[in-house]
Amino acid sequence: MPEIDARIQRIYEQVTQRNPGELEFHQAVKEVLETLGPALRKHPEYAEHKVIERICEPERQIIFRVPWQDDKGEVQINRGFRVGFSSALGPYKGGLRFHPSVLLGTVKFLGFEQVFKNAITGMPLGGGKGGADFDPKGKSDGEVMRFCQSYMTELYRHIGELTDVPAGDIGVGGREIGYLFGQYKRITNRYETGVLTGKSPKWGGALVRRESTGYGAVFFAEEMLKARGSDLVGKTCVVSGSGNVAIYAMEKLQQFGARVVACSDSNGVVYHEKGIQLDTVKRLKEVERKRIREYVNAHPDAKYIEGGNIWDIPCQVAMPCATQNELDEGAARTLVKNGCIAVSEGANMPTMPGGVKLFQEAGVAFAPGKAANAGGVATSALEMQQNASRDAWTFEHTEERLREIMRCIHDNCYATAEEYGSPGNYVIGANIAGFRRVADAIIAFGVI
Ligand code: GLU
Repeated sequence: MPEIDARIQRIYEQVTQRNPGELEFHQAVKEVLETLGPALRKHPEYAEHKVIERICEPERQIIFRVPWQDDKGEVQINRGFRVGFSSALGPYKGGLRFHPSVLLGTVKFLGFEQVFKNAITGMPLGGGKGGADFDPKGKSDGEVMRFCQSYMTELYRHIGELTDVPAGDIGVGGREIGYLFGQYKRITNRYETGVLTGKSPKWGGALVRRESTGYGAVFFAEEMLKARGSDLVGKTCVVSGSGNVAIYAMEKLQQFGARVVACSDSNGVVYHEKGIQLDTVKRLKEVERKRIREYVNAHPDAKYIEGGNIWDIPCQVAMPCATQNELDEGAARTLVKNGCIAVSEGANMPTMPGGVKLFQEAGVAFAPGKAANAGGVATSALEMQQNASRDAWTFEHTEERLREIMRCIHDNCYATAEEYGSPGNYVIGANIAGFRRVADAIIAFGVI
C-alpha cells in the first residue's frame, strides 16, 4: 500500500519543516516512523485519527532562564527546558540532562524516545524530558546546589506527582536529585516524594533505581542471547562510558560471568585485558568525580588511550552506554568484523542509523535503547508505587521485579516483530509495541 508510505513520508517532512535544525529530533522521529508502516496497514484507525501526527507534536514545551552565582560571586545564566511529550498513559515521565550540549532539539529527541520506551514497560507512564545547558564538570557542590535550586524555582510550578515526574539523566544523579527535591519541598510546603524519582533510598528513593538502567540493559542482552541458545558466561564485553549506566551494566555483566575489558569517558578509553576493576571506576566516578585516565594509576597493567575509539577493541558483546550517536557505521563494521554477536544499548540512541542497519544485516542481536534501557524508567515507576503506598521494598524483591519487567519487554518486542513480519528485529518490535499502546489510548480519549 504505497499511500501509507507516502503518508508517513509526508508526516516526516512536516516534522522537519516545523522543527528546523533539530537534527537529533528528526533522526529519532525518522527511525520510528520508518518502522510503523506494517502497523498502519493492519490498523487503519491510526491513520484516520491522525495518531502519528499527534505523537510527533509535544503536548507542551517549557523554556526558562536559570540564573545562579558561581563561587567567585559572578552571575551565570543557563537555559532550562522541560518538554511534556505525551500524557496519554500517565504523568509525563523522563529524566533531566545537564550538559553543555543540551538544546531544545536534544530534549525533544529524548522526550520522543521516552514516550515509546515508557509505553513498552507496560507501566502507567507518559513521556517527557528536560534539562539545561549547564556543565556540572569542574563545578563545586555549592555551585551545583545553587544551580539546582534556581532551576527548580521555575520548574516546580510545572511538575507534580500526577502531572510530571522528572528523574536523572546525564549530569543528574543522586546529588542533583537531592538538591532539586529539597528546593521543591521548600517552595511547595509539601513532602511530595512522588514528584521526582532517583531519590536516595535514605529519604524516599527505591533500592535498585541507581543500578536499574545498567542492570536492565544486561538482562535484555541475556534474554536476546537466550533466544539464540546462548548466554553471557565467559563472553568478552566492551561497555562505553563510565557513568551511572555503564558502571551498573559492567557490574551485572561481571555477576553473569562475563569479562568486561574496556570502558571510557569523553576523553579516552581504558583497556584492561584481565578485566575492568569496578571498585576503581566507582571511586573515580561516583566519589572523586575524576576522569577515567586516572584508572591506570591504580592499575599499571591497564592501558589508557587518549581520544581512542572504544569500538576498535574486539568483543562479543558491545554495550554503548555513553551518549547519542557514539557508534557510527564504521565502528559497527569493525565490531562485526571482530566477531561481535550482540549489542544492547544502555544509552539513548547511541548507534547511528547506518550502524543499526549494518548490525541487522550481519545478523547481530541488536537491542535499541528504547527497549534495552527501559529498566531505569520502569524502576522509577516502582519507586512511584512505593512512594504512593508509603512502602519500601527490599533490594532482592525490587531486582526480581526489574528482571521480570525486562523479560516481558524482551518477549513483547520479540513477539511484535514476528507478528508484523520481521522476526528477530527488536527495533521494529519495540517501536510498534510502544506505538500501539500510546495510539490506542489517544484514540480512546477523543480529540484532545
Ligand atoms: N533518563 C532515564 C531514561 O532515559 C530515566 C528516566 C526516568 O527514570 O524517569 O530513561
